Amino acid sequence: MRVVIAGAGLAGLSCAKYLCDLGHIPVVYEARDVLGGKVAAWKDEDGDWYETGLHIFFGAYPNMLQLFNELGIEDRLQWKSHSMIFNQPEEPGTYSRFDFPDLPAPINGVTAILRNNDMLSWPEKVLFGIGLIPAMLRGQKYVEECDKLSWTEWLKTHNIPSRVNDEVFIAMSKALNFIGPDEISSTVLLTALNRFLQEKNGSKMAFLDGAPPERLCAPIVDYIRSKGGEVHINSPLKEINLNEDSSVKSFKIGGLNGEEVREVKADKYVSALPVDLIKLLIPKPWEGLDLFRKLEGLKGVPVINIHLWFDRKLTDIDHLLFSRSKLLSVYADMSITCKEYEDPNRSMLELVFAPAKDWISKSDEDIIEATLKELKILFPMHFTGENQAKLRKYKVVKTPLSVYKAVPGCQDLRPDQKTPITNFFLAGDFTMQRYLASMEGAVLSGKTCAEKVNQSQQDLSNNTSKEIKGYE
Ligand SMILES: Cc1cc2nc3c(=O)[nH]c(=O)nc-3n(C[C@H](O)[C@H](O)[C@H](O)COP(=O)(O)OP(=O)(O)OC[C@H]3O[C@@H](n4cnc5c(N)ncnc54)[C@H](O)[C@@H]3O)c2cc1C
Repeated sequence: MRVVIAGAGLAGLSCAKYLCDLGHIPVVYEARDVLGGKVAAWKDEDGDWYETGLHIFFGAYPNMLQLFNELGIEDRLQWKSHSMIFNQPEEPGTYSRFDFPDLPAPINGVTAILRNNDMLSWPEKVLFGIGLIPAMLRGQKYVEECDKLSWTEWLKTHNIPSRVNDEVFIAMSKALNFIGPDEISSTVLLTALNRFLQEKNGSKMAFLDGAPPERLCAPIVDYIRSKGGEVHINSPLKEINLNEDSSVKSFKIGGLNGEEVREVKADKYVSALPVDLIKLLIPKPWEGLDLFRKLEGLKGVPVINIHLWFDRKLTDIDHLLFSRSKLLSVYADMSITCKEYEDPNRSMLELVFAPAKDWISKSDEDIIEATLKELKILFPMHFTGENQAKLRKYKVVKTPLSVYKAVPGCQDLRPDQKTPITNFFLAGDFTMQRYLASMEGAVLSGKTCAEKVNQSQQDLSNNTSKEIKGYE
């Protein structure tokens, strides 16, 4: 079966990869001249990479890790020590660590929390631990029910002091969805905490050893092509063309730089576009259908990714850092954490600037000035007195509509990969799967979509069922 997929982010590429495994021929059309969508990256005039986002892979990403294994590229993940490291705003230049010992879950997580006395007091830890019991005992059902509450509301209903938010969860919410705890759905934090507490290596982090388009997307594309599939860049989906019964007749593709729009036909059609863009292409006859109507409630959140190249090393920490600063979220010295970006003498800090709502339309210069102000608080030793660190160059990448903003009530709006249209399917991190808006969510959505496309074909032809190995 020939399946046309629009979008070569991780969801579209994963969908194509797993369609190949199920014996089908995927043809992927990507609008831009670069693969990866939100993991896309580019080289500047000096040959240095800059990225859409600082990306972390977690031990709790079974589908992503399986994909790396299937492609034979698992050695490209650079695993870091099992820790979470936070800057200490009250003591500039110092860090507070949660170190997970080599013990089974949840003992390792509980030990990491109990051992850390910088951030939470004992009564706060006890109250928080009691608050988490329903999530641990009732699992995902309870976590889903909590989607009606923001994280701050959830803490209040469990009588957990707001200081816990200030110390830990402003940083965690910003890292998970680029918004603060007053806005984020408690389902997001509870999902992450559940995975971290229930899986021994769930919170263990890895960096990719280079830029995602080359080190992750390219091997998926090679795999797809080796199985007879196709991947085309510079080929935007312009229009979804319908038959009289409202099923898809064709995708209209192309039209860049005056080139002609071509009509592409297939047995099945998949959109792996971000939610904000597929909403614009939904044909009129589909608009009243519940699944497509609900998409209106899902909206991308703005975020900014910043790259700062300095004339010296600012830190020797080989890990992700939670800045706990007002404007910044997580950051890392990529000259240490990522093999391809390695520089023994100088730092390249990659920082996520969030929440970015009030900054996304400001100039790069204003954003860099504000970032450097925050950095002076994080690294006072490098930015005071004589011989201060010098910024060699910078790059700002703005994403005005990134992953869907996971506010309360969103879970009910997220669509299934199978739609009411018999030959049209959805993939993308916003579609319903248990890993929310993440690389793991995107890969799982693509894999689930492939499975559902295959299933629909089997329902038609009543063939013997083929299953994807390790499907979760
Ligand atoms: C700053 C930042 C940091 C992040 N950090 C992390 C992290 O640490 N860990 C983590 O797990 N996740 C992280 N994420 C989230 C992760 O990147 C996304 O969840 C995931 O990559 C989304 O993949 P996707 O395929 O669903 O969507 P996308 O990556 O958005 O892919 C959609 C694709 O469709 C293409 N497209 C759009 N319109 C058309 C059209 N008309 N025709 C054809 N193609 C089209 C786009 O160009 C794009 O390639 C981060 C995201 C950002 C922005």
